Amino acid sequence: MSNIQRKTDVILIGAGVMSATLGALLKELAPEWEIKVFEKLANAGEESSNEWNNAGTGHAALCELNYTSEKADGSIDISKAININEQFQISRQFWAYLVNHNLIRNPQDFIMPLPHMSFVQGESDVTFLKKRFEALSHNPLFEGIEFSDDPEKLKEWMPLIMEGRTSNEPIAATKIDSGTDVNFGALTRMLFDHLQTKNVEINYKHSVENIKRTSDGSWELKVHDIDNGKIEYHTAKFVFIGCGGGSLPLLQKTGIPESKHIGGFPVSGLFMVCNNPEVIEQHHAKVYGKAKVGAPPMSVPHLDTRYIDNKKTLLFGPFAGFSPKFLKTGSNFDLLGSVKPNNVVTMLAAGVKEMALTKYLIQQVLLSNEKRMEELREFIPNAQSGDWEIVMAGQRVQVIKDTDTGGRGTLQFGTEVVSDADGTIAALLGASPGASTAVHVMLEVLEKCFPQHMIEWELKIKEMVPSYGMSLVESPEHFQEIHTSTAQTLGLCEKELVY
Ligand SMILES: Cc1cc2nc3c(=O)[nH]c(=O)nc-3n(C[C@H](O)[C@H](O)[C@H](O)COP(=O)(O)OP(=O)(O)OC[C@H]3O[C@@H](n4cnc5c(N)ncnc54)[C@H](O)[C@@H]3O)c2cc1C
Repeated sequence: MSNIQRKTDVILIGAGVMSATLGALLKELAPEWEIKVFEKLANAGEESSNEWNNAGTGHAALCELNYTSEKADGSIDISKAININEQFQISRQFWAYLVNHNLIRNPQDFIMPLPHMSFVQGESDVTFLKKRFEALSHNPLFEGIEFSDDPEKLKEWMPLIMEGRTSNEPIAATKIDSGTDVNFGALTRMLFDHLQTKNVEINYKHSVENIKRTSDGSWELKVHDIDNGKIEYHTAKFVFIGCGGGSLPLLQKTGIPESKHIGGFPVSGLFMVCNNPEVIEQHHAKVYGKAKVGAPPMSVPHLDTRYIDNKKTLLFGPFAGFSPKFLKTGSNFDLLGSVKPNNVVTMLAAGVKEMALTKYLIQQVLLSNEKRMEELREFIPNAQSGDWEIVMAGQRVQVIKDTDTGGRGTLQFGTEVVSDADGTIAALLGASPGASTAVHVMLEVLEKCFPQHMIEWELKIKEMVPSYGMSLVESPEHFQEIHTSTAQTLGLCEKELVY
């Protein structure tokens, strides 16, 4: 054991897409700042950001029905969909900036054009989808969205889903061609490769075990070098805890008031992967259905064409489940270990409130493969068990906190940036909409933690993200311009690439 003491400007904990994005932004805004990264696994993007651990949807609310809710008067609330779409445009602009400046190359290695569809069955869901379509179709952000309940048209759009469908139940779908499939694992690795060329020190197999404030207001990290078993101490003026599900335990160790009364609710996931090339070839879209009653929003079933390891594949899921781990590579004691005197009441209140959800998730874990096939057959009536395998997805840890509207122990489904009052430390909690909105969320970290630099940085931020500070829905001409130019740079106007 040795005690090595090292100082730096910024430490990013975790090598997922969030730290990668924050590091890339900071290297453009303050290139002279010294940045270090500590990651406990052997490579970047191995947890939730990995391509096999998430669904790879470029979430722009084009097809996800949970972002458009029905109001009491029967009309559709599209405000959340607009918000998420605008946030995805921010990611597209930053990625396009990185490509245009040769900071990352070959955008087709991480983003591909792919139609996004919503698919519903049954009269009331068809009515809902039609109303949703009508509400979105006049909005510039959703231009080009189409609706159909004509089986012939639906056969053209999604032959695999229509083949062998015998029920007389009404069905309908919407389709928009400007959707994307994003390989967030590849993007994360590209961003870390780029950071390495900018002299960012990236330490893999280094696990951060403790964080405490020093007398001069910096943060001291106790870091375990997994290969040699040594303990190192590193200090930084600013620390970002980008540990995905592992962020909550480290945030709690900081002891900052903002870390109190917060808990985490872990949700595991699994996908079914098709291993039959003939079936894979018959589908070309992300098709989102509607969540079942009692199911959490992150278990909305969808059938997705994916581009992974340079080949086209087909995934169905995710099936949500319950596991006490906070990371896929975590421990069964994570949940228990996160219960502290300051959050025990919040956690217990959530336990009582979310009994039905917990029961649902446990039931999901216990589903037999044949039951999962039955759910898949709601999408692909002719699906054959032998064509599908199960893969474990990543863990999501949803935030539990006390809110004015929901009361004690309310489960949150979004992402939250938690930072201290003087902006020296920030953590990202939650996982939805997730990686798609990483740039928006990391800009929020900068605004919260570096307000003194924002005026000086504004011009550069606008160079990287031209719509920064602007509402695109209120400036349709800017949206068109930005959407077209980012599509060109990212190769999203081209026809499907052949693999
Ligand atoms: C099933 C599923 C489906 C999803 N689908 C989508 C989707 O379709 N679209 C989308 O945009 N988002 C999706 N998401 C969400 C998205 O994957 C996450 O929001 C995003 O990857 C989180 O990135 P991150 O950098 O915060 O965390 P991660 O990628 O999990 O990275 C955190 C890193 O921190 C490291 N770490 C943890 N603790 C420590 C420690 N103590 N010391 C050092 N290192 C540590 C971990 O090893 C890991 O590498 C999905 C997530 C899941 C689980």
